Amino acid sequence: MKNSTSHKTVCSYCGVGCGMVIHKDPKGAITLEGDADYPVNKGMLCSKGKTLNYVAQDTTDRILYPEMKWSKNHARQRVSWDVAFKRGAAVFKSIIQKYGPNSVGMYVSGQCLTEEYYLANKLTKGFFGTNNIDTNSRLCMSSAVVGYKKTVGNDAVPIAYADIELADCFLIAGANPAWCHPILFRRIEAHKEKNPKVKIIVVDPRKTQSCALADLHLQLLPGTDVILFNAIARWLIEKKKIDKGFIAKHTVNFEACKQKAFELSLKQAANLCGVPVDDIRKAARYIADAKGFISMWTMGLNQSVIGVDKNVSLLNLSILTGQIGKPGSGPFSLTGQPNAMGGREVGGMASLLAAHKDLGNPKDRLAVQEFWNSGPIQAEPGYTATEMFKALESGKMKAVWIICTNPVVSLPNAKLVERALEKAHFVIVQDISHNSETTKYADLLLPAAGWLEKEGTMTNSERRINYLPKVLDAPGEALPDAEILWRFAQEMGFKGFDYESAAEVYDEYCLMTKGSNIDIAGLSHERLQKEGSFQWPVPHAEHPGTPRLFTDQNYYTLSGKVQFNAPQNLYNKSETTSPEFPLVLNTGRVRDQWHTRTKTGKVKRLLTHIPQPFLEMNAVDAYVRGIKEGDLVVIKSKRGTVRAKVNVNYEIREKLVFLPMHWGKILNQDFSRANNLTHALVDPISKEPDFKYSAVQVEKY
Ligand code: SF4
Repeated sequence: MKNSTSHKTVCSYCGVGCGMVIHKDPKGAITLEGDADYPVNKGMLCSKGKTLNYVAQDTTDRILYPEMKWSKNHARQRVSWDVAFKRGAAVFKSIIQKYGPNSVGMYVSGQCLTEEYYLANKLTKGFFGTNNIDTNSRLCMSSAVVGYKKTVGNDAVPIAYADIELADCFLIAGANPAWCHPILFRRIEAHKEKNPKVKIIVVDPRKTQSCALADLHLQLLPGTDVILFNAIARWLIEKKKIDKGFIAKHTVNFEACKQKAFELSLKQAANLCGVPVDDIRKAARYIADAKGFISMWTMGLNQSVIGVDKNVSLLNLSILTGQIGKPGSGPFSLTGQPNAMGGREVGGMASLLAAHKDLGNPKDRLAVQEFWNSGPIQAEPGYTATEMFKALESGKMKAVWIICTNPVVSLPNAKLVERALEKAHFVIVQDISHNSETTKYADLLLPAAGWLEKEGTMTNSERRINYLPKVLDAPGEALPDAEILWRFAQEMGFKGFDYESAAEVYDEYCLMTKGSNIDIAGLSHERLQKEGSFQWPVPHAEHPGTPRLFTDQNYYTLSGKVQFNAPQNLYNKSETTSPEFPLVLNTGRVRDQWHTRTKTGKVKRLLTHIPQPFLEMNAVDAYVRGIKEGDLVVIKSKRGTVRAKVNVNYEIREKLVFLPMHWGKILNQDFSRANNLTHALVDPISKEPDFKYSAVQVEKY
């Protein structure tokens, strides 16, 4: 059509990061298709990605102008941006003056663009003077971050999607990519179709859709992953199926790993995991025989009180077999959100600094401070996601600024989160949609521009950085998040926020990375627009990007070698079951919904897949409770209750139940919210909550 335009961008849902082409007609209406030239998805899109144009064009739920409460007991009223910035900045200033910098904090999102994430960190750590900035990525990837740091010396995913087609053995643990990373899974499916000898091992207490492709499903008891991975390690060592040359030359700490692996016999491990010992041997043999071995994992490992141990014990398998830094091999954590990686790169957590600098290192802190020309950066990590809301509830923190996330539904122990927000002196919520249950708690509500309505960059699971253009005007008075952040900072009187575009913010961040292992000094919005996406590092303007890390076997550790780690805990330390709460609750995702459904909930087509929350339960557990397929049941924990219809099958392990995490309040009632039930126990190092192991009981409603 005459005057129609086309724009390349990437999907705003999962970390696969599929390329899309947006077609805009002269009236401004948009359609979209998968980008056939894009190396990630080669034109494919999943059901969620295909319907993003409806989400972007439906503005009925959008927050259109700033709203503010003049005092706690008054309703919010529409105000101008000018008033919103003045009042927000004044309240933050006075709280910091009265209670100190650690009385405020920000809670942001893996859906923020990198520029926004960078600014939020600069503002909080450099200028508010607190490290109280955390992100919903804490809920999904922080155990993987620590695992990588302990193993390769920094938060660096070694491999690329292109390695999928070069591998001949995949171990998929605690993940259901068939539903949660669909296009990546299509690539594995296509690869296996062409090469039937490729082996796929799935480790999951549920028989998920990903098991359809598996040569071997290890349906282990919940929480026993470390024992299983150690047993595989033991078999590999005993059978001399390890790469001795690689271990001698490129690794440290092998003996500690070996000692841990030999604490249990294979039979003991099999009993504890609830899987046949022969299946453990078979899995180990598949790995031993592979020329290219890739491990993939997500929340089943990360979301655990022993999440770091689960990560390092899995990473040990790649090192034992020398399957890292080579084509078709390596560990591959799959990020859930589109820019969880970008956020980690700019230090988007309470325990990180931008450009992979180390918060615990005084030199690094000083370097960042000097680069920003800011106040001193505190040495201690700030409050992490769950700690932040506990601090608000206890009164240690007084104010929070929440950007692009819905903690009232997504954080564990949701009732505590509600109490915390009710108690806070001042809550800023910056979002696009009134569909977020968290907006109700805002003293200051700031309307943000959404996907396609602003420009910036994101990094997908394979370190691929993309530029996302502005295609549509934001509705009402909504502004790009980056602009909201820099104007707020200016209003607070901080120097160094006089940006005029997201491109300027990006240039500043790229400069900051110079000389680091995440060096992207060779990138700019302009280059990304002209030449397409790049995988970091990209240290100069002619550099083509880096699909694979550690091909020279030089790691980011002090020794330069890759490090084995002995997991500290073999056994799960989560909530224990009891006669009152005898079942283990596992929460997770379904194919056609995304996070707390503020976007996917608007698309009728996506509701045809699974229209309402359900509880998956083993037929034996259902039978002893007199529960039948389709019955309405009530699920109870120490913290609250949920009601759902039950799906009865033999595909989930006995004594385990599964509930999707997407549904929040329905008609203002919270009976569907999975996080009414979950506890807020966290891994002591990664501080990632354990959404996979809460003690519950189920009864017929
Ligand atoms: Fe979007 Fe992920 Fe689906 Fe690709 S796989 S279209 S990135 S939701």
